[in-house]
Amino acid sequence: MSRPRLRPLLVREGARFACSGDGLCCTDAHLLGPVRAAERRALEARHPGSTTRTEGMVVLRAGPTGACGFLEAGGRCAIHHAPEKPRTCHRYPFLLVATPDGGRIGTDHRCPCRTMGARPVLDAATVEPSLRDARGRLESDRHVDADVPMALGVHLDWVSYRAAEAVLLGRLQAGERVEAVLASPPMPPFEGGGWEDVGRDLAEDDRPMRWSRANQWAGDALLGLHGHPVAPGRPRPWSDAFDRAQARSPVPRDPEAMLADWVADAIWTLEWAFRGPFTLARAELSTRAAMARWIAARIEAEGARPDRSMAEALLVVELVGLSDPWADLWARVRA
Ligand code: SF4
Repeated sequence: MSRPRLRPLLVREGARFACSGDGLCCTDAHLLGPVRAAERRALEARHPGSTTRTEGMVVLRAGPTGACGFLEAGGRCAIHHAPEKPRTCHRYPFLLVATPDGGRIGTDHRCPCRTMGARPVLDAATVEPSLRDARGRLESDRHVDADVPMALGVHLDWVSYRAAEAVLLGRLQAGERVEAVLASPPMPPFEGGGWEDVGRDLAEDDRPMRWSRANQWAGDALLGLHGHPVAPGRPRPWSDAFDRAQARSPVPRDPEAMLADWVADAIWTLEWAFRGPFTLARAELSTRAAMARWIAARIEAEGARPDRSMAEALLVVELVGLSDPWADLWARVRA
């Protein structure tokens, strides 16, 4: 079996994206980093105080609204054409996974340019410049070996995995409900805690950043799904970006298709394979899908359009899925 490689570049069927400048990516919803050491030196030399350290990494300093200090009125980047613009900005919202077939291009779904409106089919040639490092070489985010963990003690070779995966992705693409495709109950038991405790911890995250507001919504979802009353009116500080997305998207999307698209990319990018077997990934995605449905219903009840409600819900569940506490929790679930 061949080793992981980056070429050819591969795009998942059904993936669509074009940057419409909605502006979410220039906020702390993607932590504005990490900024590498050489990039930090270049930024600080030209713009003293433009970086800071958070969550153990160097990031661009955000202003009081959570937006990057370089983000100008009108949504333009003040250093868009400057050499010191960090790679993380060039790369967002893409990621690249080396597999035995080639480099799989993935996309973040918390960006409304990914989820809302009429978006062109993702084109590898167009994306490729964003995936290069400072020396012009393709740079991967992770490598997946030929051996894929499916359940505790069970692995599939790459070709067999890819065939099984194609069936699941095809069912999602055909419009089957994500719960039927994932076929795994949400919120399985885990050692040393309960889901309501997780919900309370998330709901009490009061750090002054948009990411924390997303955690609060995630906490509300877990509490609401367990029958606890949740007070309405939780702020949605990313609304400015979704206002812009809705204004450029006169034709609403199907929220079910948006949820399925997110699940399909989560499978396709294989991030789950670094956390545990596919059985665990099914339960984890089922859990976040249930949370997304709860959040979307809540936002829709506030008067938002259904596709926008789902897009905002996907932002929340994608962000919570990136956090270390979430990863630690799933390490305690028996797959
Ligand atoms: S440097 Fe520019 S592209 Fe990067 S986050 Fe700031 S405003 Fe956005």
